[in-house]
Amino acid sequence: AARARAVFAASFDEAAGGPADAHEARAGQEQVPVWAAPGRVNLIGEHTDYNAGLCLPIALPHRTYVALRPRPDSVVRLASAQAPGETWTTTLEDVAPGAITGWGSYVAGVAWALREHLVAQGADPSAITGFDAAVDSSVPFGAGLSSSAALECAVAVALDDVAGLGLRATDAGRAVLATASVRAENEIAGAPTGGMDQSASLRATAGHALLLDCRPGLDPVESAEQVPFDLDAAGLALLVVDTRAEHRLVDGQYAARRATCEDAARTLGLGSLRELADDVAATGDPAGALAVALEKLPDDVARRRVRHVVTEIGRVRDLVALLRDGRPDAVGPLMNASHASLRDDYEVSSVELDVAVDAARVAGALGARMTGGGFGGSAIALVRADQVEAVADAVRAAFEREGLGAPGFLLATPSAPADRVV
Ligand code: ADP
Ligand code: MG
Repeated sequence: AARARAVFAASFDEAAGGPADAHEARAGQEQVPVWAAPGRVNLIGEHTDYNAGLCLPIALPHRTYVALRPRPDSVVRLASAQAPGETWTTTLEDVAPGAITGWGSYVAGVAWALREHLVAQGADPSAITGFDAAVDSSVPFGAGLSSSAALECAVAVALDDVAGLGLRATDAGRAVLATASVRAENEIAGAPTGGMDQSASLRATAGHALLLDCRPGLDPVESAEQVPFDLDAAGLALLVVDTRAEHRLVDGQYAARRATCEDAARTLGLGSLRELADDVAATGDPAGALAVALEKLPDDVARRRVRHVVTEIGRVRDLVALLRDGRPDAVGPLMNASHASLRDDYEVSSVELDVAVDAARVAGALGARMTGGGFGGSAIALVRADQVEAVADAVRAAFEREGLGAPGFLLATPSAPADRVV
């Protein structure tokens, strides 16, 4: 928060040419308020969100801080400690799908989406004014830990606060802010991602995982459930391995997976693969029922993609049941099965992710899997609290042995959602 304020002062208070009179000097010294939003890791339920499925993210302690001051006009000026030396500027009237590029589109996109929300409500969109904002983040970039959603959601709670909308006070309101953040990412930043990241950042709570039901027609409040996940109490830790590998080919691959799933659902006469998952779960023999459905698909690739999505939704249900039963130390095999399915059936893992997962397991992790979209990014390992160092050392050594670049490590404790910090 202090660094976001420092970036703000350096970028905007001094850019004005220094205080012209005593009043401005006081205003300059006045501390600008700061909001923050967390990155996330997904415990299980990967590539299920766009199939109307289930996923189970937690909010990280790592977050993106936004120092923000509204302006009397519609100008947006942005600075970021992660984009040093550049100020990104636009006016809200110029923000539209396809019209702006760069990291500022994640920020200005949220303002645009909140204005759209107000218009849809029959309210005055000019409640969302322009603003100066400075950003600093402890969420690693492009590591599959959702720095993009952390940025959007920090801006969403900031604008909610300064415009007096009051949305962040309730879970229903937070669902509205999540939708606005998703629209910013999809329509303004142009990244066709599902809705998990923004819901995790705005709606997950400390000591819990967030069970998200991604069926589109669902009432937003009914779409999320808090599931107890107190790692400390269980003597466990969730070690995140940031492979620091490029997301190779990720854009085209993600779109291709999505299209395959949508085509398969259509072939089966279903609205989404979630319906297939529910149908097979309702039979006495889910594996047999799934096999029958898979025979109706035209090719082996489609069959494997669908098998991943359907079994993964089942694993989310099984993992949640274990957590509700107070058995977080028993979820390892489900994490392992998720990784195998993503690697072999969905084909979104990478050498780095496989090395991280295998080394963690050999060193004693209870379970390990890739997390996020794949093709690089991060893996997670559930470990006994006293084995964190040993598992991290083993992963580091395995990367060296395989000639891979050094990975980064962080600990994921289920943490609080986006809010004002100072
Ligand atoms: P991930 O969300 O997995 O970290 P993405 O590619 O979705 O990766 O989002 C990363 C992008 O989000 C960056 O390239 C940048 O445009 C933007 N971004 C995220 N955090 C910041 C930040 N602190 N400052 C500036 N831009 C940021
Ligand atoms: Mg992202």
